[in-house]
Order: sequence, then structure tokens, then C-alpha cells
Amino acid sequence: MISKFEEPLLVTRSFLPPFEKFVEKISNVWDNRWLTNQGPSHQQFEERLKDYLHAENVTLFTNGHLALDSALRVLRLHGEVITTPFTFVSTTHAIVMNGLKPVFCDIKSDYTIDEDKIESLITEQTTAIVPVHVYGNPCNIQKIQKIAERYNLKVIYDAAHAFGVEVDGKPIGNFGDISMFSFHATKVFHTIEGGALVYNDETLKKELDLLKNFGISGPEEIELVSYNAKMNEFQAAMGILNLDYIDANIENRKKITQEYHRNLSDIPGIAMKSSAGNIKSNYAYLPVLIDKSEFGMTRNQLYDTMIGYNIYSRKYFYPLITNTTAYAGYNANIPNAEHAAERILCLPIFSDMTSEQAVKVCDIIKEIHYTTKHGV
Ligand SMILES: *Cc1c(COP(=O)(O)O)cnc(C)c1O
Repeated sequence: MISKFEEPLLVTRSFLPPFEKFVEKISNVWDNRWLTNQGPSHQQFEERLKDYLHAENVTLFTNGHLALDSALRVLRLHGEVITTPFTFVSTTHAIVMNGLKPVFCDIKSDYTIDEDKIESLITEQTTAIVPVHVYGNPCNIQKIQKIAERYNLKVIYDAAHAFGVEVDGKPIGNFGDISMFSFHATKVFHTIEGGALVYNDETLKKELDLLKNFGISGPEEIELVSYNAKMNEFQAAMGILNLDYIDANIENRKKITQEYHRNLSDIPGIAMKSSAGNIKSNYAYLPVLIDKSEFGMTRNQLYDTMIGYNIYSRKYFYPLITNTTAYAGYNANIPNAEHAAERILCLPIFSDMTSEQAVKVCDIIKEIHYTTKHGV
């Protein structure tokens, strides 16, 4: 029997740059006592991100959720919004807290919204589509754009998982009206907590800057009712520093993903998808589908058994939004999402994971399979 991991192996592990480098980056805060409110690091980080993401406009936020909330507000949406149930609850909360009704559309085998089912859900009340590049898998951007133009809808992408992803050589944030990135500690690229909106229409910039700062437009003027969603100098400094490591981190994630592919491909009942050739992936997550009849146990049983080996995978995204207490009243015809939610398991992957760790996870899954299926 393979020995368990000595330390718990979690589904992710936050990347941390060398401590001294962070201290160096924040030393100016001690010199100038400018801790937040669009300080020098905030300004510098916005510029650096514009470069990195080839973005026309970037607005930073204290987290991804309030960034998404601000995106929906600034576009003055009302009525219904077509979205996916296969996501983190933040997506749906942002829609509902803006007074909008989420209309859930089913997903495809890559877990993104099924663009061929969007049109049948459009009504007189529909004003926008909020798709999610879930696990960093790009949605069908061209088709969604066509639908949006035909019905005059806004498109706001939840790109929380998709930092660094490119489609046909174009960074993922360049599509739709606005894209939201999350820089939460558990994401591929992080600023401890943080988020950003990326958009082409520069006229949105002024209002987004107001929305994240109580609607205050001057020392004696308040233009809007709003909240506080500013990114502080420590977050921005972490972001500037982490940009130095992002490419190497994605490269290592690629290596780890390939290791998983190699080692899991011959285990029956474990399905892993690879992305299409025109997509530059960020290898943010490692979702696999468990087929009970072939693997020998259910997703839930595998999840529990792996804990015995000190491996903490995650059932992303289970339960579906529509099966939570908060959204109990919402009905949807989403068989593919339901099928995926019952079978999906995200295996550990993080920026400084070693090949040895990935191989050991695979060997353990192999052992679990053979002992269950063949009793050896
Ligand atoms: C993380 C995440 C968010 C929210 O981002 P925060 O920065 O944690 O507020 C929104 N949508 C999805 C899909 C996420 O994974």
C-alpha cells in the first residue's frame, strides 16, 4: 500500500514570492504613509496590468466580487440575465444583489455555458449574458458575441479563473463588454485579495472609479450611492511582485497538468479534458470526471477515500447554485450541469507543486481503483 502524504495536500496552495522582495516593494509605504486610496503602487499596478493583459482599460478593486458587482451596475442592467449555474456563488450573488433575475443556462462538456441554448432563454426582459470562463476554459466568445449583437445584450465575463488565458493569441479579457478577474489568494495570480475589471469602453473608467470609492468625486461632492471597494497599497504591491512570477508559475502548472494526464490516462473511469490548440491555458484547476461503473466508486467515495491518504481534493462545483438554500426558489433545465456536479472532482494543483507530488496523487488514485475494482 502506498503511504499517505505526511502533510495534508490541499487542492491549492497560495503562491508566495520571496519575503524580502515583498518587504522591498512595500518599503515606500513606510516612507510616504500612503496606505490606500489610489497610491503609487495602485497606479503602477494598473499600468503593469494593462501591459500584461494588452487591455485598453483596467480598474482595480479590493476583490473580484465587488468588481463584478460594479461591472453590472455601471452597465445599468435591469430585468433578466442569462448565466451559468456551474460556477462559484459570487457570480449569481452579484447578479441578484443588483436586483437582476438570473436565468440559468446549461453547460457543455468543457463546463462553460452552452451558447446554443442561450437564445431559447432570451425574453423581452433579458438585458445581459454573464458567462464564466470556468476553470480558465474560454467560453465560445464568437458565438456569444453574435447573440449579444442580434438581441442587443451586454456581455460581462466572469474571468475569475482565467488570468493569463489567451484565445487565438488574444488575451481573454479583451472580449465582451467587461471582464472580471479575481486576484484572491487561491487564484493563479493573486494580490492576497483583489480583483480587476478590463474593458474597451474608456467612458466607463470614471464611473467605475467612483463606484469603488463611495461615489465620491471630489472633496465636497458625492455623485453616486456606492460602497468601498478600493484595492490598497499592500495588495497592489503583491500584484506588481507576483507579475514577475506568473509566467513561470503557469509553466510549472502546465508541467504538473501533463504529469496528471500521463498518469491518469490509463485509469478507467477518470476523464480529463485537454484544451483546444488555439487556446493558451493557465492550468488553473485540475477537474476530472469520475464514472462510477468504470472507476469502481463514486466521486463522493473517492473524495472521502483520498482524505485517508491526506489528499484534500474539492467538489468544484457541487452543489450547483440551484441546489443551495439561498437559490432554492430558482428552477432551471440544466441536465449537463447536474451530471457534472455529481461527478466532478478538482485534484490538487498549485504553482509550486512538484512532479513527485502529482505522480504520488495519481499512484494513490490508481491504488484506490485497483483495490476497489479488483480487490488487490
Ligand atoms: C473567486 C471567484 C469569484 C470572486 O472573486 P473574489 O476575488 O474571491 O471576490 C467570482 N467568480 C468566480 C467564478 C470565482 O472563482
